[in-house]
Amino acid sequence: MAMKMKAEDVVESGEIAFAEMRRLGFDAGYDSVFSDGNGVELDWCEPCFRDTLGAWLQVRTPADTPLAKMLEAFKPEVHGDELPPVKK
Ligand SMILES: [Zn+2]
Repeated sequence: MAMKMKAEDVVESGEIAFAEMRRLGFDAGYDSVFSDGNGVELDWCEPCFRDTLGAWLQVRTPADTPLAKMLEAFKPEVHGDELPPVKK
């Protein structure tokens, strides 16, 4: 696996820090600054990721997920065995 990252973030699989590495990736779309169809990837450790992009991150707690909201709204006596629709 080819990984390009900050020098201090280079870790080997098997090291504990390897489990803390995060990869973001997407395929660039039409008229993208990365050129149409190119794959873009980023591998960083979580502290560097947070320190660099934290101002723009949206971090949700598990209770904020759509599934958690559905489960919270679930009342067996009202909904039977069907989950209620999620309110946005
Ligand atoms: Zn780092």
